[in-house]
Amino acid sequence: MSNKKYLCICVILAATLIILTLPLVHFPKHTKEEATTAGAEVSAGTPTGTPAGVPAGAEEKIYLPIIMYHDIKKNNSGKDIINPGEFESDLKFLKENNYTSITMQDVIDYVYEDKPLPENPIMITFDDGYLTTYRYAYPLLQEYDTKIVLSIIGKSTDDFTRVGDDHLQYAHLTWPLLDEMLESGLIEIQNHTYNLHSTRAGRVGCKQKRGEALQDYEAVLTEDVMKLQQEIIDMTGITPTTFTIPYGEYNDNTIEIIKKLGFQAALTCDYGVNKITKDKKTLYHLKRICRSHNYPMSELLEDVKKTIR
Ligand SMILES: [Zn+2]
Repeated sequence: MSNKKYLCICVILAATLIILTLPLVHFPKHTKEEATTAGAEVSAGTPTGTPAGVPAGAEEKIYLPIIMYHDIKKNNSGKDIINPGEFESDLKFLKENNYTSITMQDVIDYVYEDKPLPENPIMITFDDGYLTTYRYAYPLLQEYDTKIVLSIIGKSTDDFTRVGDDHLQYAHLTWPLLDEMLESGLIEIQNHTYNLHSTRAGRVGCKQKRGEALQDYEAVLTEDVMKLQQEIIDMTGITPTTFTIPYGEYNDNTIEIIKKLGFQAALTCDYGVNKITKDKKTLYHLKRICRSHNYPMSELLEDVKKTIR
């Protein structure tokens, strides 16, 4: 093969490689849409008005992927369980691709206070408050300087604090361990019900039962959620802003009730990327992407990006 031909092939190969890899990892930059075409995504009556630099009648939109983790185990990987090496590879990927982990407070401040969000924001959420979050995730969060949103189940936290059982197959975090993690500034604590994280007596998680009167449902949900809310305030001095819906099972009444209780946002298990605008309503239906075993961050971000229209 002549040198010229060889050079030509090399250039084509290099160009193909660049084209293939470039769009892999990042979501579209902040976009602005005309208010007339943005439909429901346009803020209705936001007191803060139009963000700086955005022309009147346009609305800034930020794409925010929220990743959902549950348990990390060395010996057992399943749908919701990954191993520590997988978690580290996710954090490494985020660092190498210039993502910045943000918390619910950052999102709320953006929507309510007009505070800017970093470029390439991403949210890492851990549900249920397993002890493995402390043993396996926390050291890596410190090493990679990454923040997480941790949603705890009140009864599990109380039970394991009392009993002191630290078996990594099933144990949950205790209040002293939560305190230690909160001290680091890398953990944001949120409410995942006191004792409605189960399926019993016809109720799935905290969802309204079929045929249950709204008044009765409101009483059950309010009592349970506020019990944990008060406990978190008493134990940590922090007031959770966000309600994390068990199993992602909810209806419109669930959202109306938690709004009434003062929550500013809700994390669901609906699949997709969030388009964050200044419309406060969007905060009550935040979508998440489940990180399963053998489904690395690079792939799940690539897949979810296809849902953006
Ligand atoms: Zn859960």
